[in-house]
Amino acid sequence: MKFVDLPGGAGKMPIVGYGTWQAVDSELEAALEEALTIGYRHIDTAYVYENEHVVGKVLKKWLDAGKVKRDELFVVTKLPEVGNRPDGVEKYIKRSLEKLQLDYIDLYLVHVPFSYIERGDEIHPRKEDGSMLIDPTTDHVAVWKAMEAQVAAGRTKAIGLSNFNERQIERVVANATIKPVNLQVEVHAYFQQKELEKLCKKHGITMVAYSPLGSKSMQSILAQIGIQKELPDLFDNQVVLGIAEKLGKTPAQVLLRHTTQRGIAVIPKSVNPQRMKENFEILNFELTEEDVKALDGLDQGPAARVLDFSFFKGITEHPEFPF
Ligand code: NAP
Repeated sequence: MKFVDLPGGAGKMPIVGYGTWQAVDSELEAALEEALTIGYRHIDTAYVYENEHVVGKVLKKWLDAGKVKRDELFVVTKLPEVGNRPDGVEKYIKRSLEKLQLDYIDLYLVHVPFSYIERGDEIHPRKEDGSMLIDPTTDHVAVWKAMEAQVAAGRTKAIGLSNFNERQIERVVANATIKPVNLQVEVHAYFQQKELEKLCKKHGITMVAYSPLGSKSMQSILAQIGIQKELPDLFDNQVVLGIAEKLGKTPAQVLLRHTTQRGIAVIPKSVNPQRMKENFEILNFELTEEDVKALDGLDQGPAARVLDFSFFKGITEHPEFPF
């Protein structure tokens, strides 16, 4: 495995991780067993995925059996929107630790820059008209102080951000005692995030690419809630297919290799053993400069964003909506 070094000795993150969004229950349990057997050690989950207890169950089994040591694992989870306020951070990281059955998390991220008002244990509280119960008072600097306190308390080794825009990242960095070590955002061939990459490099922030294969399955999820959006199929792209054929690799391997070759970690999600293996085996070949140039040329910028949170009705009204 190749690793991305987190700044300040905050840890070593395997450059290929395993995404778990939309995988739950026995399907995730079996898939995670398979992922660990294949060799994945970087696991990406979140409070809002409602699957931390499954991740915890499988990890405990592996740890108890001595099949893996805790320091070989790199577990990432995230602060939910309902906890995105200073007094929510400790409460929700403790909940995640309990579900994950771990003493510490390797990397704890602020999942999104916006917040909802807490209403009981609801994860996505909505008003009667279906729109999100927005809490407009979100203060990233105050939340970040509470994130720093979690490092001091030993509940997480490192802290970072997800889905924050340039302005929001700059503000956190300017006011931080412990700088964010990582930014997790959507990155794939059609949306390469070159501007954010520049900003992260400037501040020594590492990056993780979510939806690194273009998250095509989002289309059916959106359709279920009445949003008709045609998402591009990255596996059908002629440039990708051409390079894949030339190298004897799959389109997914070419896409993931393109991102990791930039030094950005990837967390593809699959529950299919063959595809999980395929996604993991991307470090034994290299794209030529010419291949990279051709793939770089596929970038369409923010217009190609897949995950714009449009499934959260009314979320663009939040003062910290990032896009
Ligand atoms: P993705 O990894 O780009 O795509 C997943 C989809 O591609 C699934 O439908 C999967 O189906 C399919 N797939 C996987 N490997 C494949 C292969 N080799 N060939 C063909 N199809 C393949 O999308 P994602 O799930 O949106 O993103 C990955 C992870 O990033 C998530 O699971 C989550 O952990 C994280 N994430 C974070 C955020 C955030 O806000 N921070 C947002 C989105 C995602 P099968 O399962 O059937 O293989």
